[in-house]
Order: sequence, then structure tokens, then C-alpha cells
Amino acid sequence: MSTGVEMPRVEDCTVTRCSYNQNGCHAFAITVGSSDQARCHTFVESPVRGGLEMSVAQVGACQRHDCRHNSELECRAPGIQVGQETADCLTYAPA
Ligand code: SF4
Repeated sequence: MSTGVEMPRVEDCTVTRCSYNQNGCHAFAITVGSSDQARCHTFVESPVRGGLEMSVAQVGACQRHDCRHNSELECRAPGIQVGQETADCLTYAPA
């Protein structure tokens, strides 16, 4: 069953030490959160390669309700960028 809802794409992720990153994020969906920072909670360093070869990651959920792109704990931005040492959502914008 399709809901017809499109989730925002992770257009770019520069956190190359993450196991889901092979020329960008290939997780099926990520979660963004933390009370002090808009951080990618799907980030993981592991010897196991993560994600799906053909997929471009989407934002499945975001806990940063104070972001202007956030509505009902879902991201409504057209797409997001992730970067920095701490895998931050760089599209985060305080409302
Ligand atoms: S842009 Fe805002 S709502 Fe979207 S993932 Fe980043 S912090 Fe969450």
C-alpha cells in the first residue's frame, strides 16, 4: 500500500566514516534528533557496510520540533544536507 507521501531526500552527506555512506547516504531512511543538536541518529561506525545500493536516503523522522521545516515531528524540507564531525542536519533552521 502506498501513502503517496514523499519524504525529504538526504541530498548530501559528507560524513564518510559512517557505514551508510558510499558517495552519499544509502540508508533507506534516517532519523534526526537530539535535544541539543539536530544530529543524524542513524549514523553508525561499523565494519558492516550499510544501506541499499540503489537507494537515496530519506528523512523518516525528525525530533527537532523547533526547526522551521518540522511539522508534527516530520521534516517538510524539500531535501536536507548532513555534515560536520557530529553528523548534523545542516538544513536545520530554528523557527
Ligand atoms: S531540516 Fe529541520 S525538520 Fe528537517 S531533518 Fe533537518 S532539523 Fe529536522
